[in-house]
Amino acid sequence: MSDQFIFTRYRTDCYNCGEDADQVIKAVSSQAQVICSNCGATRIFIPRFENMDVPGACTPLGRYDVWSIKTDAQCKNCGVLGTHELVVGTNHLTTRCQNCGYTHFYRFNLEYIGQCPIDDEDVSAPPAP
Ligand SMILES: [Zn+2]
Ligand SMILES: [Zn+2]
Repeated sequence: MSDQFIFTRYRTDCYNCGEDADQVIKAVSSQAQVICSNCGATRIFIPRFENMDVPGACTPLGRYDVWSIKTDAQCKNCGVLGTHELVVGTNHLTTRCQNCGYTHFYRFNLEYIGQCPIDDEDVSAPPAP
């Protein structure tokens, strides 16, 4: 898939099933997903804005820990394949290119239990209420 941007895993206790399981993290321009590989619990994040130089650390809120991950990805801005900082929190998910500082900022949109492919049109962001 040409739009693939971030694809990585983070092993932690799942908030839903409580197992120590890989949480699969996928992000493209239009959305990001965090999926438990054990129970399929999925959180969907949608873009809020781009190009904002937000700090990598955010205040932990709610029932999830903030995960701070480093992963390789190809930057959509500078094109360099290199380290991106990935921060996943309760209400947000950010990716930041370490080369140029280009940041994607996603906000939490919805949560459900069950597998869903990221390229499914039906899971794109619904219109604001
Ligand atoms: Zn789980
Ligand atoms: Zn970059």
